[in-house]
Amino acid sequence: MPALLQGMSKFATNNLKTMSQKETARKQQLATKFIHAGAEPDPSTGAIMTPIYQTSTYVQSAPGVNQGFEYARSQNPTRKALETALAVIENGRFGLAFSSGVAATDAVIKLLSPGDEVIAASDMYGGTYRLFTKVFEKFGIKFKYIDTSNAENVRSAVTVNTKLIWIETPTNPLMNITDIAAVAAISREAGAWLCVDNTFASPYLQNPLDLGADIVMHSSTKYLGGHSDVIQGALVMNDEKLKDQLYFIQKSCGAVPGPMDCFLVMRGIKTLHVRMKQHCENGEIIAHYLRNHPKVERVYWCGFTDHHNYDIAKAQMRGFGGMMSFTLKDDSIEAANKVLSSTQLFSLAESLGGVESLINHPASMTHASIPREERLKNGLTDGLIRLSVGIEDANDLIEDLKQAIG
Ligand SMILES: *Cc1c(COP(=O)(O)O)cnc(C)c1O
Repeated sequence: MPALLQGMSKFATNNLKTMSQKETARKQQLATKFIHAGAEPDPSTGAIMTPIYQTSTYVQSAPGVNQGFEYARSQNPTRKALETALAVIENGRFGLAFSSGVAATDAVIKLLSPGDEVIAASDMYGGTYRLFTKVFEKFGIKFKYIDTSNAENVRSAVTVNTKLIWIETPTNPLMNITDIAAVAAISREAGAWLCVDNTFASPYLQNPLDLGADIVMHSSTKYLGGHSDVIQGALVMNDEKLKDQLYFIQKSCGAVPGPMDCFLVMRGIKTLHVRMKQHCENGEIIAHYLRNHPKVERVYWCGFTDHHNYDIAKAQMRGFGGMMSFTLKDDSIEAANKVLSSTQLFSLAESLGGVESLINHPASMTHASIPREERLKNGLTDGLIRLSVGIEDANDLIEDLKQAIG
């Protein structure tokens, strides 16, 4: 065996360590877990940070004899370290990383066959809705969109063909809350999978697998990455057979992230707890400021005690995060536009979950792919403004909103 490969064979021992690390991590506090998730000194050099293995293939010592890595679409050590980290932070057994959040969603839908039905939340990320309606409907998969914030609606929508229930909680952008444990019980009875898009909460605030979900999906682009510098997605699950099916789709369809991007998300995860603490603190201050503002009509934030599902949010989340939306008393699009184009610290941009604050107009930006009548039915009005409150000084953020709202 070439000298270079001898050190690499330690990867095999690392597989065992990975399993025991997941066991140990279950008992750790969040801060410890996020910093150490997936991190093992590199077996060939001892490097404390997992190197960016920028390679497409791996040299074999004899035909079919390798160190567990054959071709980088199937396996890459940097991605493998990240996938272990993803499992650890969501209290799951297996993690899979994808080239984007929608690529992760795409992989879940590819578990299905023509004729299968999906029950999905009517209020969810526009790109998920677009993928379902514009790409997968034509392959004979049926989607039913319902208000999942009342779990009984889910029960009524289940049929013998229901194979998957897809929810987001809190939702984007109206911050509706769905009872994950209640929907998980319904999906188990129906023999369907429950997948929860946990992007808005992040694993710091909520762990859907612990509440009975089968799959957790993330747009790692958002809070996991945390610095608006990478596009990536993730799936985490407990069931080994389900993992095998999803891994098969991952390598067969090929929507894998590059090693540099995996490195960036791993680095992001290390500070998730400190960032989220500050997002929650700033979010609470801004939500209350807006609510008391004379020109603001309504603030959508799941931390208000009079939010219609506050009790569920309080029970299944550890905090309420920095995402919120609001409308002005003057509900014209012109009034909203004035605010959207007057902020200095809040940058007008799609996306969320980065350290810097963003302001967004869902009707014309993130949710433009949803037909206007559909949007209005769900309460997503033309004047709605969404904020991703960052971790800057809260007073500076308030000053910015004050001058923009006027
Ligand atoms: C951004 C986002 C997605 C899609 O993820 P990408 O990384 O942009 O592909 C899915 N769900 C939610 C809630 C999102 O915010």
